[in-house]
Amino acid sequence: ALPVPDKQVDSVCPYCGVGCQLTYNVKDNKILFVEGRNGPANHGRLCVKGRYGFDYAHHPQRLTTPLIRRADAPKDPKAIFDPERVHEIFREATWEEALALSASKLKSIRETKGPKALVGFGSAKGSNEEAYLFQKLVRTGFGSNNVDHCTRLCHASSVAALLEGIGSGAVSNPVMDVTKAEVIVVIGANPTVNHPVAATWMKNAAKNGTKLIVMDPRQSDLTRLAYRHLQFKPDTDVAMLNAIMHVIVHEGLVAQSFIDDRTIGYEELKKNLVGYSPEEMAGVCGIDAGTLRDVARMFATSRASMILWGMGVSQHVHGTDNARCLIALSLLTGQIGRPGTGLHPLRGQNNVQGASDAGLIPMMFPDYQKVVEPEVRARFEKHWNLEPGTLDAQPGLTVVEVMHAIADGKVHGMYVMGENPAMSDPDANHARESLAQLEHLVVQDIFLTETAALADVVLPASAFPEKTGTFTNTDRLVQLGRQAVTPPGDAKQDLWIIQELANRIGLQWNYRHVSEVFDEMRHTMPSIGGITWDRLEREHAVTYPCMKEGDPGEPVVFVQDFPRADGKARFVPADIVPAAERPDSEYPMVLITGRQLEHWHTGSMTRRATVLDAIEPDPVALVHPLDLEALGVKPGELLTIESRRGKVSLYGRADETSPRGAVFVPFCYYEAAINRVTNDAFDPVAKIPELKYCAIRVTPG
Ligand code: SF4
Repeated sequence: ALPVPDKQVDSVCPYCGVGCQLTYNVKDNKILFVEGRNGPANHGRLCVKGRYGFDYAHHPQRLTTPLIRRADAPKDPKAIFDPERVHEIFREATWEEALALSASKLKSIRETKGPKALVGFGSAKGSNEEAYLFQKLVRTGFGSNNVDHCTRLCHASSVAALLEGIGSGAVSNPVMDVTKAEVIVVIGANPTVNHPVAATWMKNAAKNGTKLIVMDPRQSDLTRLAYRHLQFKPDTDVAMLNAIMHVIVHEGLVAQSFIDDRTIGYEELKKNLVGYSPEEMAGVCGIDAGTLRDVARMFATSRASMILWGMGVSQHVHGTDNARCLIALSLLTGQIGRPGTGLHPLRGQNNVQGASDAGLIPMMFPDYQKVVEPEVRARFEKHWNLEPGTLDAQPGLTVVEVMHAIADGKVHGMYVMGENPAMSDPDANHARESLAQLEHLVVQDIFLTETAALADVVLPASAFPEKTGTFTNTDRLVQLGRQAVTPPGDAKQDLWIIQELANRIGLQWNYRHVSEVFDEMRHTMPSIGGITWDRLEREHAVTYPCMKEGDPGEPVVFVQDFPRADGKARFVPADIVPAAERPDSEYPMVLITGRQLEHWHTGSMTRRATVLDAIEPDPVALVHPLDLEALGVKPGELLTIESRRGKVSLYGRADETSPRGAVFVPFCYYEAAINRVTNDAFDPVAKIPELKYCAIRVTPG
């Protein structure tokens, strides 16, 4: 007979930004199975990750005791680390010994080399409260704004463009609004793989008559239902989007009264679009002028048009420009501020929205309050009981900049919580060499990740179902994740670890419960000021902005005005900027990296989830069948992908959805870490690296 659960705990999914609510069915401190719950984003639905990706929490490789690197164990950035060999490199330690060692090393670096010689990387997999305390520790304990996390690698450019153009970095409308739209544009995103439950709402809408326009160099499952698939050439987003806007302007399809009343900068945009006629851009982007005109007319004249995008838009050296074009398209046509319209950058991790809101970014305090503004610093100094003038006035280093700063001898100590830059950072060979060079690296995680393998001290933390906290999904829904089981062995809750380390480097914190951290957050973050812990426990989820207690929350924003100083949105024109590295005779193909349905980001959780790993056990590269044939590789055979920075070997998979000349590789496989190959050139505004485009050569074997 199947075991019967002895308790059920309502929580949310630990994986993507859709934020599906679920129920853990638990017996004897083990999760037996997971069921979907009737949350606002999922209505009981779950994808394969949410339903089957839970037993990683009980995996035998979980870290259960603090570890300290053995004196005779060198840091080898080139090694493919085997977690089974953990005791050859580390020895077990008590919490007191491990925390005291890290605290004294970090303090000594701060005192001898200055506050900016220390850095913290937090995680979008942690809760809002963990993100908030982590950034507070870095700003007040380390003494600088050198704090960042993986938002830098996913939607930093979208957020930069949104803050600049409309004054808010979050979405304007929830995903579910696709059911109210007449036209949906999905660009640079593969929701079936990366936001699967959100994709089901898009598919339902398309089946019910909504015109779905997919813009992507690759085909996806959504294209089956698309009214149009604009399979533009990789790296030509700005050319295509400017051509669409050119049509809207030149055919008089603009929403003139909306532009007059609610925007600035239209004349500059209009002037910039002159040279982007569809006829001129067709050859650049590979979409014929007739299709560009058709899409422009349909988007502009529909009752409600909505744009959703992913990292195909954001992860470019022109990622901010790509997002500027999408914002301009929405403003030009007045397709924002109503149900079924607006702008929705689909968030990746389950808490990348919340971690960014909570201040886990180097240029802003919580709620996007700028570190360079004296009155903002004064406010946070008051909130945090600091002497006036204590907080650093300069923005800190971003993820990619940190790796270069280590190599340049400017950063010497680092605290990493739940992030795996050895796998996720571009040009990962360089990133690993930098991590290995640190005088002190302390990593807090649930497994001995590739980053933890380079650490001096490893602190065993809690998995998602082992703690309680709030998580903010892609729709701006603040939701409660609840503890279902206890951590294994001597692993501890992340909030406890952050606080213990903070107190040992000289802070004096005494948070006794996660709700106390949330309460402090809501008093420093006006956008969530009205959300109380009691209400979250009662309602499970509340949408922000929710400024005052009792506010219902606002799923659709910008109805009246935009949160910029003058209340108006701003057009920002963009021109074509080529990728940092183009194909040539030596490296003739293009590499596109991303995710696959069954695995999550760097794979540390899903590759240890039995069902998910059984479905996709091996590293694969998706290549067009004709390209495979030309390379002399049969599907399933090994091939090597090489760039100027590194190479990996993995299995070729014939994939007709990939465009000719481009290879798609998920970044979750430690044994074929594709970021050893990618380029760390970044967008100058948002500092997001170009993970969606670099030049490679592919050879058999
Ligand atoms: Fe989890 Fe996202 Fe799947 Fe929902 S769609 S179950 S949040 S991974």
